[in-house]
Amino acid sequence: MASHYTIILIFSVSIAATASTLLSDGLKNDLFPEILRDVAVARLYELGKVSDADGYLERTFLSPASIRAGNLIRTWMEDAGLTTWMDGLGNVHGRIQPPNASKKALLLGSHLDTVVDAGMFDGALGIISAISALKVLNVTGRSRNLKHPVEVIAFCDEEGVRFQSTFLGSAAIAGVLPVSTLQIPDKSGLTVQNVLRENLIDTTEENLSQLKYDADSVLGYVEVHIEQGPVLESVGLPLAVVKGIAGQTRIKLTVRGSQGHAGTVPMSMRQDPMVAAAELIVSLESLCKRPQDYISSNGPDGQCNAFSIKSLSGSLVCTVGEISTWPSASNVIPGQVTFTIDIRTIDDIGREAIIYELSNQMDTICDRRSVSCIMERKHDANAVSCDAGLNSQLKSAAYAAIKRMTGEDIGDVPVLMSGAGHDAMAMSHLTKIGMLFVRCRGGISHSPEEHVLEDDVWAAGLAIHAFLDTNL
Ligand SMILES: [Zn+2]
Repeated sequence: MASHYTIILIFSVSIAATASTLLSDGLKNDLFPEILRDVAVARLYELGKVSDADGYLERTFLSPASIRAGNLIRTWMEDAGLTTWMDGLGNVHGRIQPPNASKKALLLGSHLDTVVDAGMFDGALGIISAISALKVLNVTGRSRNLKHPVEVIAFCDEEGVRFQSTFLGSAAIAGVLPVSTLQIPDKSGLTVQNVLRENLIDTTEENLSQLKYDADSVLGYVEVHIEQGPVLESVGLPLAVVKGIAGQTRIKLTVRGSQGHAGTVPMSMRQDPMVAAAELIVSLESLCKRPQDYISSNGPDGQCNAFSIKSLSGSLVCTVGEISTWPSASNVIPGQVTFTIDIRTIDDIGREAIIYELSNQMDTICDRRSVSCIMERKHDANAVSCDAGLNSQLKSAAYAAIKRMTGEDIGDVPVLMSGAGHDAMAMSHLTKIGMLFVRCRGGISHSPEEHVLEDDVWAAGLAIHAFLDTNL
């Protein structure tokens, strides 16, 4: 009981201290720089040091550092007045249950795992800005007036480094994680289920479905994430609203020719898969840079097979990121070249049209060069749209946050497409989603060079605070 009173005392002192600082701050009295910027930034750096590796950041699914990170996040959630727990897959939850709230909870979140040699903002910024915004609502007493419960979820696995299977945590909550996932092994042969058991979590094929949230108990899911691209920096603004997450196709293309001696086969008699691959890659670049030059629009408004050339060309990106040749020797004309193609766009039908055109170009090029070409589709995921209602609320909140911080009217908050996958993608199977992007330096991510300005961390926290305070 004594400790109970101590907590109340410390709490009321902290309210008084915060209040007096704010009053002296005059115009900035509702900007909460201590909580939303200073503490949030300090926590990002603290979490960025929680790593399984020496000298670089690495936290994979349920590794020792992931457990430490989850515990640290729980203490911050509790400091913000949230009730916390870890679920049967290692996701960390913190929930605020206002006295007169309805049943439907707003979920906020992002991932606590990282890639190898990661930056400290990917995932962490979304978790920490949500906790900071709720801390402000708690300190100001506004959280008791919320009409909905709010729950922050730090997802255990988004990057998929350990088990090569992304969205383990969010897919389980959305109810779309196949039970067979529990038997996927990591490099050391331990399965997902083994790793859970090591951490005293007894999740089985029978009880995995209990992790799924009831759609009727959820109002929506909102995620703050670094942009991981250069657009916000180029327009000079800290925040954007995300229109949707691109759909994706991954293709493996194998070109087979005639292997031979680099010195003896005349140029006119070669069937060289390397130069065929080079031509295919360059033609893919042309196709994806200017799809309108290759795909005709038949309809009256530029509509062709129900997709818009404008939305396709505005969001289409194609990448050849991996190439291998056989036998890979400097004095041998290769016998075979294999490369990957990653195609992403917000327009699913447009993506199919690009693949169809690519396949036609491949036939032409490979016939002319007398090599054989085989295209295999390895992965397909459809695009996900963010909810228009949540987006307009997030847009107003971001606009208000930037205006209050800078005193300037920025016009319109940018609306961007996400080329990267996020937990929101999995959560879209459960509920409507909304996302805010935060500017990161040089658009660099998945690198220790990843960086977000302190004031941009503040803007993100302020925007989420404004969103919660206005709409809940
Ligand atoms: Zn991420």
